[in-house]
Amino acid sequence: MPADPIDYAAYDEGRDCNYWALDRTLQFEARRIYPDDEYRWAEPLLEDFGEVLGHEMAHTAERIDEEGHELRSFDRFGNRLNEVRYHPLLERQEEIAYETFGMTHDAFHAPPGRDEPVGFAHTLLMQALLCNVDAGFCCPVSMTTGAAIVLDKFDDGTLGEYFQGLTSRDIDEHIEGAMFLTEEQGGSDVGANEVRAEPTDEDGVYRLYGEKWFCSNIDAQGALALARTPDAPDGVAGLSLFLVPRTTPDGAVNDAHFRRLKDKLGTISVPTGEIEYQGAEGYLVGEEGEGFRYMAEMMNFERLTNATGAVGVMGRALLEAKVRAANREAFGATIDEYPLMRRDLVDMAVDYEAAAVFSFEAARVYDERERTEAVSGDDAYQLMRLFVPVAKYRTARMAVETTSYAMEVLGGNGYVKGHTTERLLRDAQVLPIWEGPSNILALDVLRAFEREQAHEALIPYVQERLAEVEHPALQEPTASVEERFHELQTAIGTLATEDGDYAQYHAKRLSDLIFDVVTATLLLSEAQWQLDEEGDGRKALVARRFVETRFGDDETYGVASGERFAMEDDVFDAIVRYAGVEPAALLEAAPADD
Ligand SMILES: Cc1cc2nc3c(=O)[nH]c(=O)nc-3n(C[C@H](O)[C@H](O)[C@H](O)COP(=O)(O)OP(=O)(O)OC[C@H]3O[C@@H](n4cnc5c(N)ncnc54)[C@H](O)[C@@H]3O)c2cc1C
Repeated sequence: MPADPIDYAAYDEGRDCNYWALDRTLQFEARRIYPDDEYRWAEPLLEDFGEVLGHEMAHTAERIDEEGHELRSFDRFGNRLNEVRYHPLLERQEEIAYETFGMTHDAFHAPPGRDEPVGFAHTLLMQALLCNVDAGFCCPVSMTTGAAIVLDKFDDGTLGEYFQGLTSRDIDEHIEGAMFLTEEQGGSDVGANEVRAEPTDEDGVYRLYGEKWFCSNIDAQGALALARTPDAPDGVAGLSLFLVPRTTPDGAVNDAHFRRLKDKLGTISVPTGEIEYQGAEGYLVGEEGEGFRYMAEMMNFERLTNATGAVGVMGRALLEAKVRAANREAFGATIDEYPLMRRDLVDMAVDYEAAAVFSFEAARVYDERERTEAVSGDDAYQLMRLFVPVAKYRTARMAVETTSYAMEVLGGNGYVKGHTTERLLRDAQVLPIWEGPSNILALDVLRAFEREQAHEALIPYVQERLAEVEHPALQEPTASVEERFHELQTAIGTLATEDGDYAQYHAKRLSDLIFDVVTATLLLSEAQWQLDEEGDGRKALVARRFVETRFGDDETYGVASGERFAMEDDVFDAIVRYAGVEPAALLEAAPADD
């Protein structure tokens, strides 16, 4: 029985609704990437989370953004405080995320109703839902999980109390994580970090000196910072990792000066500031000189949450646009009845599907790598190393584009505070910058080929999936993807033989090509599955449109092609409003032939 379309005209705006119930793209991805038993356990929880987000946090997030937090570096007597006075509503947000929904706990300890923890795919899906309301707050939630991952993997138990705090479900015991790499002279170039760590008489305890330039969640009790020990070599090889809490175990404020909070464009709900370490106590994580390797582990997870978070931001922007377009009348009709707006909404929705399928595939391979403990040389590891930087790079840029256009769909109101699209765009704009800008990620993609031979896993991965697509309605787009896949292999081969400068020069275009080929493959594979299992052709329409817009090369940009795809009621209802599609209808006319 094909699904009914969603009636977006029934909403006033994209809140006071359930983000899970309304988002059939996320539901599809969750069913695809969760193990069956985990999905059965998680589904009611995701439904509840979507409800709280839509009815409560959608409102609190606006208030926190408007009013912000305040830093108190000193008390009135001049004693060091290093205290962030949080907006009072933040406490409630933390309670919802960490206590009620176990957002960090459940990946490390068995949640109620299960004997074992749930996989990171679940954590990442929760991050996407959370980003429907607050991309800023997603940052500390994600770094708390990231810091716990690092301690879980590399600490020998010395810092067990911090691990317990980071993963506790009890909000009174819970602490948050943070990651402090960036210094003024070294953001992307982490090897230029200068903060020093001097050993003390106590084993594993050091004193840190120097300045960190961008510290999000500045007052985190579970903050991890990179620093250089005496006589350590230059570059990243000389970096060690330390846990540097705001207060030391005796309750004293650590020897650091929280200089100021950055006056940021967006993500106001997370306080980002500058820290000057003045002999702060830091506790060595693992071994000296391994800091960059440990931090890379956290960075992988943060880049992935950036991608699934970008999906959440796009999902909310799209929802706001759909609701507005279904309600706003101009020239005597609602604007979603006009051909040009139909095309906009269809293409925004297809972009959303693309960002979601790629990001959650990256989440699935990350999860698989964790479950199987895959190491360098294993397929899951190679794919994870490749997909994470591609996902972060592409989806961050797509989130900026989607939030920007959603604002335009809302017209003048969209540009005005309180109408959400304004905040979404401000928040989205940081997604390409933090956790590594686009160029840095594209260079990381080159490293995944050079050091991890990622092509060894990528090529059979795409071949196997394309070989399974057999429905007649998918033949033409599959042939286009096969052709482009062939060109991707040529491109990988060319970059392997050319000089390094040439490879760097083309690194972003290579990443774009990987994203498009893998996404098209995944969408076709999803379309085949949906036709087989559900007798529904909706994903087939999504896949066709993605392939046509990415790989079509009409010389008139389609203007003379006769294409009327997004104008058709059935297509619009399917792609934008999630109506099901009878498979037989797919064969009636190919999209470009209408
Ligand atoms: C709101 C916010 C919060 C942040 N929070 C944190 C945090 O909690 N912890 C933390 O450690 N950092 C944090 N950062 C810092 C962020 O991670 C850095 O800004 C980012 O990594 C870029 O570093 P940079 O600012 O030094 O820019 P640069 O490294 O100077 O880069 C500037 C530009 O040069 C490009 N570039 C650099 N090298 C190359 C190259 N080899 N080839 C081509 N192009 C290149 C980059 O792509 C970029 O576009 C935060 C930043 C922001 C805006």
